[in-house]
Amino acid sequence: MRKIFSAVVVLAVMSLAYFYTFEYSALSVVELKKEVKSDSISKEVLQVAPTILYGIVVDSFQVEERSVQRNQSISDILLAYNVSHQTIYHLANVAKNVFDVRKIAPNKKYTVIYQDEDSLPSATALVYEPNPEEYVVFNLKDSINVYVEKRPVEIKEKAISGTIQSSLYEEILKNGGTPELVDLVADMYGWQIDFTKIYPGDQFKVLFTERTIEGKAVGVEEIIGAELIHYNNPFLSVAFDQGDGVDYFDEEGKSLRKAFLRYPVKFTRISSRYTAKRFHPVQKRYKAHLGTDYAAPTGTPIYAAGDGVITKAVYEKFNGRNVKIRHNSTYSTQYLHMNGIAKGIKPGMKVKQGQLIGYVGKTGLATGPHLCYRFWKNGRQVDAMKVDLPPSEPIKEDYLSNFNRYKSFVKEKLDKIAYPESDEEVLMAGMQ
Ligand SMILES: [Zn+2]
Repeated sequence: MRKIFSAVVVLAVMSLAYFYTFEYSALSVVELKKEVKSDSISKEVLQVAPTILYGIVVDSFQVEERSVQRNQSISDILLAYNVSHQTIYHLANVAKNVFDVRKIAPNKKYTVIYQDEDSLPSATALVYEPNPEEYVVFNLKDSINVYVEKRPVEIKEKAISGTIQSSLYEEILKNGGTPELVDLVADMYGWQIDFTKIYPGDQFKVLFTERTIEGKAVGVEEIIGAELIHYNNPFLSVAFDQGDGVDYFDEEGKSLRKAFLRYPVKFTRISSRYTAKRFHPVQKRYKAHLGTDYAAPTGTPIYAAGDGVITKAVYEKFNGRNVKIRHNSTYSTQYLHMNGIAKGIKPGMKVKQGQLIGYVGKTGLATGPHLCYRFWKNGRQVDAMKVDLPPSEPIKEDYLSNFNRYKSFVKEKLDKIAYPESDEEVLMAGMQ
């Protein structure tokens, strides 16, 4: 019995010694000293520099970051942190002039700063971020108040260039651009090139300004200029404002845009084309269809195809709710079967190209939701898909010298942007 006991003691001592030497050798004295020192330093730093989040000292609080769930309201968020219904009601009232609490949207970030007393959380403040550029602070303790803070935004000039391999989208993203930039470039060149098709070997340069917050890009401010080499033909684009908003112009000062949108609606498919004769699905007889039908879900926005004056905004038995625009002495367009006409659209009102005029529906004689788009040229209905659309206004005489000077400045900048090393195979494919 005794022998066994002593053996256990010896083993225990041995393992202790082993453990001790191991521990000891793993940490040298120098390191040990360093650790003690840094520990005290970090404590000092903590004391002089409190942690500040959204302008609030949060050292003695718990901080929880989450994103708004579907159908979640400010009440749902705050009740979980033991804020009373009464306080929430009061808070919503106080917030009224600053931020409408009903506008809290899914997937947006929010932060709750709270105290954890006896494991019962009690919110001190809620911070909601509607976009990367600003945040709303709801102070819940002491005096209840709400304010919006804007983060400082820096505007930085940026350039992206690339050689298209599969799509403009992929190439711009690969070079550090965003989907927003892709949309802007595709819209800008939309009349020259159909970017839904692939043009391997095509090259582009885009010069633009970007909004950044704390060094992080949050959006495109504006495009300054661009160059596109499409099947070896260069397309220059210079952003210029000649008094009626920014437009894009080419080498000669001609607008890149046409006087009419290619499509006045984002459609899912063309359900019926312009034809002199077709079988009408509702009337069950052959009839001419003097418009183009764009199938799209009910409520899809419809835009004015060009600048003009509203001549009609009515409900009619067959055409349903419809709007007609006179663009000039030559052209008029009409939009049929609207679910609703946009607010304020009335005869006599001036509209700009791309302005919202109504929403897709199936009012009047229609089987499903679609836009029937009609196009008049010199008083006769023509096929909007085939008519040769006139270009938008070029640079006016008065602005020409200014434009030319600005154009040289933009071109000089564009010339300094290099195209990335091009892949020979891609170039070969592009020449085929
Ligand atoms: Zn139609």
